[in-house]
Amino acid sequence: MSGVKPAFTKEELLEKDRNYVWHHISPHNDEPLIVVSGEGCWVTDIDGKRYFDGMSGLWCVNVGHGREEIAAAAYEQMKTIAYSPLIQSHVPAIQLAEKISSWLEGDYRIFFSNSGSDANEVAFKIARQYYHQKGEGTRHKFISRHRAYHGNSMGALSATGQSQRKLKYEPLVDGFEHVPPPYCYRCPFGKSYSSCNIECAQIYDSIINWEGAESVAGVILEPVITGGGMIVPPPEYLQIVREICDKYGILLIVDEVICGFGRSGEKFGHHNYGVTPDIVTMAKGLTSAYSPLSATAVRAELYESFRGKDGISHFRHVNTFGGNQVSCAVALANLEILERESLVERSAYLGQQLSYRLNLLLDHPNVGDIRFFGSACGIEMVEDQITKEPASADKVLQVVQACKQQGLLIGKNGDTVAGFVNILTLCPPLITSDEEVDFIAAALIGAFDALLEGKEVQQSG
Ligand code: PMP
Repeated sequence: MSGVKPAFTKEELLEKDRNYVWHHISPHNDEPLIVVSGEGCWVTDIDGKRYFDGMSGLWCVNVGHGREEIAAAAYEQMKTIAYSPLIQSHVPAIQLAEKISSWLEGDYRIFFSNSGSDANEVAFKIARQYYHQKGEGTRHKFISRHRAYHGNSMGALSATGQSQRKLKYEPLVDGFEHVPPPYCYRCPFGKSYSSCNIECAQIYDSIINWEGAESVAGVILEPVITGGGMIVPPPEYLQIVREICDKYGILLIVDEVICGFGRSGEKFGHHNYGVTPDIVTMAKGLTSAYSPLSATAVRAELYESFRGKDGISHFRHVNTFGGNQVSCAVALANLEILERESLVERSAYLGQQLSYRLNLLLDHPNVGDIRFFGSACGIEMVEDQITKEPASADKVLQVVQACKQQGLLIGKNGDTVAGFVNILTLCPPLITSDEEVDFIAAALIGAFDALLEGKEVQQSG
């Protein structure tokens, strides 16, 4: 087992975990995976068992674990200087902002923060202030989508379209409206692509009119809804939303927290659809999660209105750690790896390879749909392919557990409002090898086979 040897036994650690650690978004799990090290696409737990990290942690460790050069960049930067606030400037932030702008292929100014939620909060505040300064101060609302996830802080949570994540924390922030998701497998408009007039995109025109265009500041969306079930829109969707935003003078904010930095098979997910956002938010893949960092990229034209020397028109926002030197140095090393190893292209290739293999699963009675965006994948489990009744929590868990037993970690999500978590997710590191693609496919197919066998055993018993 590589990595740091824990100073305590597993039992001692589990007890301390129970006594001191509050796990994220879960009831306390008494048997948590205690991960002690990682190398490449694999993590090792306290028992020495290795798992393929099929979710890249939480959709983020894109360059894989244990990259020496990222550690070296952090070490060098810490020795040089670990911190000075971005009220002034520093070299890693300057270099990174230039690099991000080149990845975006547009003229953007970059505001650094710590997390994806932060980046979205910054986007909302910039949009509202922009309209104030333009003399259109009534524009304050944002439109997002049901099933979307945009973060955990009060504004980002308000934009989130999953009420189960919100109900116990209300009242949230005023001025966030939601439209149905572009979900072809279960079209909320009861239509089928392509005879549908892309209603899921046209609805923005209606809601903007219902709300009053003069009250709307922005639309926020991910290129595909990742955390809410890998919901991939029809190809025309983003272009239509962009046109509607332009028609009413509304900002298009694209949340690239998961889709950015190669996951989509392009540099950013909006590149797959050929649109230019006004604001782009990003986090996770920016540093491959080696250090916390996020960014909000704003079209240069918008930024200009914050440059007045009047002492009042600058952006009134600061956070202590945002754009920390070490995190910026880590991001630069991470982007260098993505470029040198052509991992954006590899992501597109991985998606193709995985889809060739996993599409076999469409014959399985409990698989309704398989959706890809670059190398991210969602497998929608059903009880019945015709009725599309979502698979039971038990069946979903059986597949997740069977994968884990074979050494593959995957995720699951879905429609938490309706109480269905029936979509398996896969988001492998972009360095996944061809052999590892075979391993992932074999483990998933094996897990679904076991489900079928289990069902037959149960029925015959
Ligand atoms: N936007 C999207 C699309 C996300 O998936 C997430 C996190 N999963 C966030 C925002 C929030 O990021 P963070 O957890 O870093 O605050």
